[in-house]
Amino acid sequence: MNSFSQLQLDPNLAKAVAEMGYESMTPIQAQAIPVVLSGQDVMGAAQTGTGKTAAFSLPLLQRMIKHENGSTSPARHPVRALVLLPTRELADQVAQQVKMYAKYTQLRSAVVFGGMDMKPQTAELKRGVEVLVATPGRLLDHIEAKTAVLNQVEYVVLDEADRMLDIGFLPDLQRILSYLPKQRTTLLFSATFSPEIKRLAASYLQNPVTIEVARPNQTASTVTQLFYNVAEDDKRRALKQIVKERGISQAFVFVNSKLGCARLARALERDGLRTAALHGDKSQDERLKALEAFKKGEVDLLICTDVAARGLDIKDVPAVFNIDIPYNAEDYIHRIGRTGRAGAEGLAVSFASSSDQRLVTDIEKLTKQKIELLNLSFEDDRQRGRTNTGRRQWDDDSSSEEKPSRSRFTPAPKVTDPFFDKPYEASETAPSGDVPAASTVASVGRGISPNIKPKRKVAALFKTTESL
Ligand code: AMP
Repeated sequence: MNSFSQLQLDPNLAKAVAEMGYESMTPIQAQAIPVVLSGQDVMGAAQTGTGKTAAFSLPLLQRMIKHENGSTSPARHPVRALVLLPTRELADQVAQQVKMYAKYTQLRSAVVFGGMDMKPQTAELKRGVEVLVATPGRLLDHIEAKTAVLNQVEYVVLDEADRMLDIGFLPDLQRILSYLPKQRTTLLFSATFSPEIKRLAASYLQNPVTIEVARPNQTASTVTQLFYNVAEDDKRRALKQIVKERGISQAFVFVNSKLGCARLARALERDGLRTAALHGDKSQDERLKALEAFKKGEVDLLICTDVAARGLDIKDVPAVFNIDIPYNAEDYIHRIGRTGRAGAEGLAVSFASSSDQRLVTDIEKLTKQKIELLNLSFEDDRQRGRTNTGRRQWDDDSSSEEKPSRSRFTPAPKVTDPFFDKPYEASETAPSGDVPAASTVASVGRGISPNIKPKRKVAALFKTTESL
């Protein structure tokens, strides 16, 4: 039993953890916390939803407890820990968790990300904060404005590092890291260890301890993955049918482009489905509103692009749809990681048209699983007595009368992973990170930037309104 009590955390941290309702440590926590407490660098491969935020936040806070003080002087509260994340939503989420863990200590934390007025962030930074959570671009703005001073940073966390590189944050990261003292602890978390990530680690980490809780490039076995052979024009119809047939209450729907995202959301809205779009062209306010509406259960389908959705910690999303197969196979892992979190059952449905063959093969290679491509018979076609001949399907060889109903792919064996087969379970009764109890929200809400609304309780997605 990996109990938090083994860690001998400061009583004020232990109290906050107990209040979150965590009973035992998740595998990444059990492995990473002692290493971070010992001051070593860490290179961690962990999927989102594994509890990695606590895995780095708790030991960092523990190590900073010696600096806590009640002085009002900003000089007594220099930035000592810096957490960098690729997206605003993710930064906001991590900052909220840090606030909750630190709520009984005198350590201060703040979050800065773009798309928001700089003034309230500046005011908060000027008062002094020990833990600064940030996206790279906005942090550089604050560094230039001299509101973020990083010469006393002892710990830096590069979270979702692979995504930061995908977005093109490498030059920003390099600049930020150049402002930090050489003597520091660096923690790098990434869902995958690509060669670029390894190079980044080699440049900035010193003798890191490598921690892997789920093998990199592996999907969770709690997620049932289905691939359907669907022509481009039929994808929306297929989505609606599967949602209806399977009684799916809420889902993330992924598309590859911002334009496609907006178009699909509008079309589904016209079809009478409650949808919201989440993509990079939406203002920060619109994005937070869309998320909030989804969490409250006012929206059933959240249509998103990869960058906008990365790392969103929304519990128990029953299903994820890939309307477009992602260009980058690693995004497939990130996308379907939105469902089946923390051991819950999840469903990931992908629609592949004839032009997606190469992308599906890339996913097969990365996840090391065989993908069976299924045919979907449409309800309205069935009613009209039509059968799906596969005419608009995968293998466009229309001369073949004997079109097989399945593709050349053979059935996918269920991936097993000891970690995911024995998941930790969040307490039913107690609040957890993104689902703070009303009292927790209130206290968190007071602490964070006035521009960031505290998260409300997430709708229990499998239930109806009584859970709201
Ligand atoms: P993360 O991977 O950090 O995004 O965490 C995913 C979710 O798991 C968050 O909502 C956390 O509050 C929750 N969580 C983190 N650690 C634990 C734990 N030891 N037991 C139960 N839930 C946890």
